[in-house]
Amino acid sequence: MTSESISIKRNILLNPGPSTTTDTVKMAQVVPDICPREKEFAEMMRELRSDLLKVVHADPEIYTSVLFCGSGTINIDVCINSLLPENKKVLIINNGAYSTRAVEVCQYYGLPYIDLKFPVDSQPDLAVIEKTLQDNPDIALVHTTHNETGTGLLNPVREIGGIVHKYNAVFTVDTTSTLAMRPIDIAQDNIDFCMASAQKGLMAMTGLSFIIGNKKIIEASKNYPKRSYYCNLFLQYNFFEETGEMHFTPPVQTIYATVQALKEYFAEGESEKWNRHTRVFEAIHAGLDKLGFRDLIKREYQAGLVVSVIYPDDKNWDFSKIHDYCYARGFTIYPGKISSTNTFRLCALGAIDEKDIEDFFVVLREALEYNNVAVPVKYDN
Ligand SMILES: *Cc1c(COP(=O)(O)O)cnc(C)c1O
Repeated sequence: MTSESISIKRNILLNPGPSTTTDTVKMAQVVPDICPREKEFAEMMRELRSDLLKVVHADPEIYTSVLFCGSGTINIDVCINSLLPENKKVLIINNGAYSTRAVEVCQYYGLPYIDLKFPVDSQPDLAVIEKTLQDNPDIALVHTTHNETGTGLLNPVREIGGIVHKYNAVFTVDTTSTLAMRPIDIAQDNIDFCMASAQKGLMAMTGLSFIIGNKKIIEASKNYPKRSYYCNLFLQYNFFEETGEMHFTPPVQTIYATVQALKEYFAEGESEKWNRHTRVFEAIHAGLDKLGFRDLIKREYQAGLVVSVIYPDDKNWDFSKIHDYCYARGFTIYPGKISSTNTFRLCALGAIDEKDIEDFFVVLREALEYNNVAVPVKYDN
């Protein structure tokens, strides 16, 4: 059987990952069984690790990439528990659900941290960040999120990284929902460690996550307190360097899919791909505007990938009914992730284009009409 002979239903995922994949990526997983300890498999991972560096323009002399088996959250866990020296503190620049996850990692490991909170709908105040670093010379690790996927807010990581480095701290950035979409240049963006999982920007499958970061910093962390066994960055890095393999069993089929997805990434090209996501994002906004929906985050603060839409004030509005109507027709929409306002999300990730969004809005309009929600939608104030 070849991929051509199988017809796989194409769903349009507008949730924030996993995203719609190409059939060629799906089919790349159907391979002869192989033991991942074979040289052939190690060679494939070596190339995969080096291709990941290229995605963020990382110089292989300075940076490395380390693979983990797990969803994207494993990267946050690994970076924070592995990169904090003894008697030092973590600073989390927190304006959303994903940075809050990093705060929780600190809590679970019992690490000293400062949770520097900012409103979820605006960019953080750089002067406050600088003052915090000034006042707390024991901060060794600063973490934030590039695109707060819960709202779609973009954080100015290059500017934050510049400040972090002035105070000689290490800067880890959760780029899970930007990497391989919004262009990143690890050095120019002042990032020491970035991260993602294969099912988001790369449009591959779930189960493989990776951290791209500074080799010297990883090597220095060899002597830091060991707080986890499975999730230790140096241990995994060192095992890769010595053997070319993942310390424990890798997600074999997901790795084949990721290798194919990277081929497709480089074939599409960084700027072409970003242009496509931007087209999709603009089509989402155009469709929402036509139906009268309002979004939560000011357009100029949006990262260009996630739109948080405010629920209309209509007694017939029921997110789950709208979701189910769309889902039955091949379109997945997703609830929001902030406590203060009721929102749902539409995302521009994945192997989709403008036409898919136009098709979606035909279905969304039908869903509203079917449920007797007024179109254009209404807001009380
Ligand atoms: C998706 C995502 C993650 C990972 O979440 P999982 O639930 O582990 O898949 C982490 N950070 C950001 C910003 C994300 O968008």
